[in-house]
Amino acid sequence: MKRIVIIGGGFAGVWSAISAARQLHERQIERTEVEVVLVNRDPYFGVRPRFYEQNPQNLRIPLSQVLDPVGVRFIEGEAGKIDTNEQSVSVRQKDGQLDLAYDRLVFAAGSQLVLPDLAGLHEYAFSTDTYQEALKLDDHINGLIDSDHVEGKYTAVVVGAGFTGIEIASEMTDRLKKVAKQENKESEVKVILVQRTSAVAPDMGEHSRPIVEQALRDMNIETYVNETVSSIDSEGVTLQSGGRIPALTAIWSAGVKASPLAEHFPVEKDELGRMPVDENLRVIGLPSVFTAGDTALAMTDEDHAALMTCQHAMPQGKIAGHNVVCDLLGIEGIPYKQEQYVTCLDLGPWGALFTNGWDRIPQYQGEEAKKIKMNINQAVIYPPLTGKREDLFEASTQIIPDTSI
Ligand SMILES: Cc1cc2nc3c(=O)[nH]c(=O)nc-3n(C[C@H](O)[C@H](O)[C@H](O)COP(=O)(O)OP(=O)(O)OC[C@H]3O[C@@H](n4cnc5c(N)ncnc54)[C@H](O)[C@@H]3O)c2cc1C
Repeated sequence: MKRIVIIGGGFAGVWSAISAARQLHERQIERTEVEVVLVNRDPYFGVRPRFYEQNPQNLRIPLSQVLDPVGVRFIEGEAGKIDTNEQSVSVRQKDGQLDLAYDRLVFAAGSQLVLPDLAGLHEYAFSTDTYQEALKLDDHINGLIDSDHVEGKYTAVVVGAGFTGIEIASEMTDRLKKVAKQENKESEVKVILVQRTSAVAPDMGEHSRPIVEQALRDMNIETYVNETVSSIDSEGVTLQSGGRIPALTAIWSAGVKASPLAEHFPVEKDELGRMPVDENLRVIGLPSVFTAGDTALAMTDEDHAALMTCQHAMPQGKIAGHNVVCDLLGIEGIPYKQEQYVTCLDLGPWGALFTNGWDRIPQYQGEEAKKIKMNINQAVIYPPLTGKREDLFEASTQIIPDTSI
């Protein structure tokens, strides 16, 4: 029996699994001939782009709901050593170690927040990078009501004003107000964005950045640019410039890097730790390994590399799953191409901003864009949850998600 192993049960991994299962089904290959195995550290698909929202408890889906109907075997455990010569993956499970041999591997372990060596960062800062972190932040905010009344009780400092930092900051005012209201302290709510470079939303471009800046002003979110955080403690944030912000809530959102597991692959990575792939999403130099999502350095067209977004992770997952089966069966795969690129930035109660193209030309803003964002967050990025194999298979053939409403 041959085995395809997929590491990671996020956007890229889940869609790889469904797509591989569909391809095997269409070619009438039995599970006794080729099995698809997905390894994830917990039994959930985390809807990561929504982790900045309140109540993250609702933002995970049992992997069994999408893997069981398509006949993918799930192994819960932490993937560790990957040996590309032996073609095996070590998986640490609750009750011991498993060495899993593979014929083909899809590496889809995603990315993680970069935490520099900064005083107090690990101890006192929150994040929205993982489900556990999002939950910890949510518990902390809800628990503020019981904290002593100190300066900065209802102040949140968000470090990093990229897309994620802005989405977190935009939600934070309402989240804090909900708690502060219980003791009539809504007027004390303050949200501050700290950004190392000279402008917020550095990647948003000249056409869209002014809209984001206006939205932040309208929401009374203060922005500190050209400022670097030097330390974080239980009562606030200290800046390298010497400034001090009293705040019981500090949230770190200053950059992500591909999973450190990528280090096991003997290929050169880009500065984000991603592995270069060919048009079929095969890792260049490693014939048995495919990668998709935040671990892949893939070209979307002639000029643009994919970003670490689920907009790119989902189509890549679908293609990688398809191609890994084709490769195993000696059939030609399909190239990955994704010419359309959009951005939809949640701006909390202000609405959202929807832009088109790599120059991020504004298309919709405010309420109109918010409807699109809600549709993306609540529908587009979810696999069908009907439990029906045919729905999952059908969705895996729609490579590029449709964000229109
Ligand atoms: C707060 C936030 C907001 C975002 N907003 C947007 C947005 O608006 N639009 C957008 O397109 N993207 C957004 N993103 C980015 C998006 O979430 C990622 O690009 C996407 O999740 C990448 O998919 P992936 O499958 O590569 O990785 P992930 O979704 O991270 O999945 C990786 C999986 O691998 C598992 N894993 C990792 N290491 C191991 C291991 N050693 N062993 C076993 N399992 C392992 C993880 O548990 C996880 O299940 C946002 C991200 C965050 C955090």
